[in-house]
Amino acid sequence: MRWTLARGWLPCIDAGRCTGCATCLAVCPGGGLDFARTAWWRAANEGAPAPDFLGPWRGLWFGWATDEEIRYQGASGGVATAILLGALANQLIDAALVVRPSQGNALAMEPFVARSPEEIAACRGSKYNMVALNAALREALTHPGRYALVGLPCHIQGLRLAQRRHRRLRERIVLALGIFCGWSAEPRATALAARRLALDPNDLAEARYRGPGWPGGLRLETKVGLVRERPYPDYFDDDRAMRAFTPPRCRLCPDGLAELSDVSVGDAWLERFTGSVGVSDLIARTPPQARPSSNGSPASM
Ligand SMILES: Cc1cc2nc3c(=O)[nH]c(=O)nc-3n(C[C@H](O)[C@H](O)[C@H](O)COP(=O)(O)OP(=O)(O)OC[C@H]3O[C@@H](n4cnc5c(N)ncnc54)[C@H](O)[C@@H]3O)c2cc1C
Repeated sequence: MRWTLARGWLPCIDAGRCTGCATCLAVCPGGGLDFARTAWWRAANEGAPAPDFLGPWRGLWFGWATDEEIRYQGASGGVATAILLGALANQLIDAALVVRPSQGNALAMEPFVARSPEEIAACRGSKYNMVALNAALREALTHPGRYALVGLPCHIQGLRLAQRRHRRLRERIVLALGIFCGWSAEPRATALAARRLALDPNDLAEARYRGPGWPGGLRLETKVGLVRERPYPDYFDDDRAMRAFTPPRCRLCPDGLAELSDVSVGDAWLERFTGSVGVSDLIARTPPQARPSSNGSPASM
């Protein structure tokens, strides 16, 4: 995957090394979502109530992290981070594939394999910026262990397509935590936001998109410590120019709620939660025992 300021991460074929096997195309969610190709996942989830407009689900809640700091610093209720920390503490996972700003480039996001509670907590918060998260699946293929993956619906789609082909990925990615997604943004959206706040994007040391508190906002900091802030969602949502930087694939996505995840979380945009520290929607989709094993039959987590 190659990064550019204009488009973010895009696949790049090295013609000298390509064998023409087409595996990359087979696991790429970019070409579209064929739910029939995830039939093995649906078979493992047998017995679930019939899917409705939320996709398949077994339980619906509003929730937040009981740890005040995790909730306050999270994008909505800090539930994604709390679930990962709980899974790590209870030894259900050894590591989590999450997202963090790239080292040395505040406008780029990169996947990160977090192995400690501190590393997981440091990656909380929504990044309205493209990330080639599934590049981190290589880690799960090469290093034995049980992993959680937190991703946008497109990341979960790619994961399921890859799991369909890779026994090791079926065995090792034991928790797919999907986050609701209405749209994402190319890195130049952040660069434009910086310019509008009278900052040179090249001078940025850090970009944070949500929190602290709810809904929080954009916080840009330069290498010399100059800070500019703007509340969410003003810096993207109310702005047609920002919408112009939404990747074309996002405009066509039919899967805003990450229907192929084990658990989906989103922002609880309800009037009754206005003024709260943050509340997440929570959709439980699969039971713990519906973990596809190497032969495709359900196994315990
Ligand atoms: C691009 C984008 C669009 C979204 N659109 C909507 C929407 O339209 N409606 C809605 O209700 N909710 C939307 N969300 C989800 C919402 O902003 C929160 O992420 C969600 O409610 C979880 O909040 P939390 O406090 O439980 O998570 P936290 O505890 O803050 O943890 C967030 C987790 O998400 C991971 N993450 C952050 N950004 C990305 C990314 N770009 N790609 C992959 N993983 C990432 C982090 O690594 C972290 O583990 C969107 C999120 C993103 C990133």
